[in-house]
Amino acid sequence: MKKKDIVSYSYEELIQELENLGEKPYRGKQIYVWLHEKGADSFDEMTNLSKGLRGRLEENYEIALMRTAARQISKIDSTEKFLFELSDGNRIESVLMRHRYGNSVCVSTQVGCRMGCRFCASTIDGLERNLAPSEMLRQIYQIQKITGERVSHVVVMGSGEPLDNYENFVKFIHMLSDGHGLHISQRNITASTCGIVPNMERLSGEGLQITLALSLHGSTQEKRKELMPVANRYRLSEVMEACDSYFRKTGRRVTFEYSLVAGVNDSDRDVKELSELLGKRNCHLNLIPVNPVKERGFKKPDSKKAREFENKLEKSGINVTIRKERGSDIDGACGQLRRRYAAEKKEI
Ligand code: SAH
Repeated sequence: MKKKDIVSYSYEELIQELENLGEKPYRGKQIYVWLHEKGADSFDEMTNLSKGLRGRLEENYEIALMRTAARQISKIDSTEKFLFELSDGNRIESVLMRHRYGNSVCVSTQVGCRMGCRFCASTIDGLERNLAPSEMLRQIYQIQKITGERVSHVVVMGSGEPLDNYENFVKFIHMLSDGHGLHISQRNITASTCGIVPNMERLSGEGLQITLALSLHGSTQEKRKELMPVANRYRLSEVMEACDSYFRKTGRRVTFEYSLVAGVNDSDRDVKELSELLGKRNCHLNLIPVNPVKERGFKKPDSKKAREFENKLEKSGINVTIRKERGSDIDGACGQLRRRYAAEKKEI
């Protein structure tokens, strides 16, 4: 019989599970704290539980560990990229960024991705599988353990589409912000979506306080379709309405992301259309000069051109910033490290 994934049990579920085993509810609380606050790797560490209980847990449940297959540290800005190997051999990437305000981790939600965005490395081989809540959480726990540093912010912008793994993603957010675990404030969590409209609407109703980031990349339906196959499913007007609705229901200002691709979406016309689209909205726009992926052939505009693009938008009243490039010397873009590792089949 396959052991149960105990790290994916929410606080309430774990207490219930321990009660079902005939244990007192506070045992569930103790175990939750071990798993999620202390990041325990084994039941042996749980020294305030009896040997008998630890043995029963060991028999029926697993704390799935991830092997650190590679770790790269940027010489430019101390950003670190981790390649973790899951218990089934699949590999995922996570990134640690050190800011003045604290450390943030960029988390993956799927192995691969099926959204097909034209410039993105994560989607080249399609979707392999969804990650469990435990596998999203352990990316953060493991990074804290390896570096000995506390993580205060989380961005769900690694490989995968969080709203294509909806239940696991929402559970992950609840567990990450649970007071019995890492207790990361939901206001310090940002999740990015390519725009799966029905699930954006569902998310608006979850009562969460996380920031929603929408991958826009084009300011018209036609432009978006060129870069993002998901635009064939959901029209830009519907996506924008879902963003407005998220803001109305949660009071959280939406962030728009726009990967700048030379000769594709960086013209004066794009500036004009973007300001028409976002000018009337209370939002923030993040420009990301595209990180070239060799299989894709897209180029980023030079930094002068990118700054001009930013300035013109600013002049028209848009709240805009160019995202600081991080870890450009360590396969910064989503999915690049995983692909390189698979190609070379060796430790990097
Ligand atoms: N599936 C989510 C998370 C993706 S990663 C989403 O689509 O939003 C976070 C952001 O990085 C997205 O806006 C994504 O489109 C962008 N991105 C992916 N690959 C990129 C690349 N090579 N260069 C620049 N931005 C990229």
